[in-house]
This record gives sequence, C-alpha cells and structure tokens, in this order.
Amino acid sequence: MRKKKTKKNILMLFLIVLLLVVSSYFIVSKVFLAKNQESEETMQEQQKEEPQQEVETPSSSETQEEENNSGLKIVDGILIVNKSFPLPEDYVPEDPYEPLNGRDYCSYCVTKETYEHFKEMQTDIEVLGLNIWIQSGYRSYNFQNGLYNNYVNRDGKDAADTYSARPGHSEHQTGLAFDLNTISSDFAYTPEGKWIHNNAYLYGFILRYPEGKENITGYMYEPWHLRYVGKELAAKLYNNGDWITLEEYFDLPSTYND
Ligand SMILES: [Zn+2]
Repeated sequence: MRKKKTKKNILMLFLIVLLLVVSSYFIVSKVFLAKNQESEETMQEQQKEEPQQEVETPSSSETQEEENNSGLKIVDGILIVNKSFPLPEDYVPEDPYEPLNGRDYCSYCVTKETYEHFKEMQTDIEVLGLNIWIQSGYRSYNFQNGLYNNYVNRDGKDAADTYSARPGHSEHQTGLAFDLNTISSDFAYTPEGKWIHNNAYLYGFILRYPEGKENITGYMYEPWHLRYVGKELAAKLYNNGDWITLEEYFDLPSTYND
C-alpha cells in the first residue's frame, strides 16, 4: 500500500516536471522569436532612416516615385513642378502659414515649414545688417494664367516661356517657393543676393534656376527664386556654390509638349 503511494507520487512528480519543461520550452521559444522579429524590424527602420551620404545623383532605380491619383509628380518625397510636370488646377499649398481664404495671390500663404525656415534665414541675415523679404509667394493657377497671358501678349509665347511659367507649371502654386526682394538679375550682385547664393541651403532652400542651367530647368537664371526642399537635399544641391538642379539630380526633363 505504501509502496504503491510512493510510486504514484513519483509518477505525479515526473508528470509535473515534464509539464514544466515543455511549457518553459514554449515560453522561451516564443520570447526568442518575438525578440528576433523586433530586432529585424528595428533594423529595417534604421535602414529606412539612414540618409544618403553621397553627393552623387541617385539612379532612377534608387529614387522612389510616389504613385498616386492626385496627378502630382513626387520623387523621394520632393514635389516636382516644372515644364514637364504640372500641378492640377485646384492644387493649393498644404498647411499654409496664412490661410488662403480663396485668395489668388498671397506672399505668406507658403507652407508653414517654408515660412518658418524663411524666418530663420531672415533673422540670421539681419544680424549682418542685411534685409530679405518675400516679394512674391503663393500664386494660384488662375493668377499664373493671367500673368503668363499678359507676358505672351507683350513678348510672344516663345519669349514668355523662358521667364514665365504656364498655369499649373509654376512652383509658386506649391507654396514651397518664393521670390526675394527685387525680381531682377541685379539681385545676384547685392550683398543679400551673394549671401543667399551661399547660405540658403543651410535653411533648406535651393536656388531653383541657377546660372548656366537654362537648358536644363527651362528657365533663365533667377537668383531671387528659392524653393524649399529641406536641409538634406539642399546641402547636396548646393555643391559648394555650383548649384545642381532638381532635374539633374533626379534625372528629369523640363520641357513643354508643344
Ligand atoms: Zn519665382
């Protein structure tokens, strides 16, 4: 009788130990699996966040083009607007610093991000006793239409196309671009113009239409026209003062179909 009970106890003990071993195996393997997945995920995130170090232009297989139904051309998160890539007629700046309220023309209706970086730049240049201001910021499709047609009537279509964008093709409609101070090539020779040429990139701006790149951008040299692209890309395009265009960097055309 006693022997039987001891045997039973041993069997029970054995079963309990077996149960413990089996269940702990499952727990350990589950935790291990979860940990592995976690580290894989963080690795993927790190890869995503890693900035491109090279100044070399990315090949088209490296750039990410956003596919969307909005009719926008976006490469690596950068909205492209030029003679090849227009904006829809109803496109307005995202998150404008000043509300549009249906206006066709509004200097401070550029995006908040654009305006904040402009302010930062303006504050820094003021320390040097210099002064910059936004002469022309947001312009609607309608406004650009009127502007362009006036130029066509005055100078003819071919001439107008070298200095004025057709409606939908103006960066001013994005709210990411503006003209500084005086809209004149002389701006490049002013202390402000020289400083902008060499420092705007520090605030995320690029000289959108550099000198000597007229055949690439499709526009004449505009030392007063800045486009916000963020500091990382702006630093690459600055290229020690020998500005690279968005068209060169992303290997994009800028020509009208007609
Ligand atoms: Zn402009």
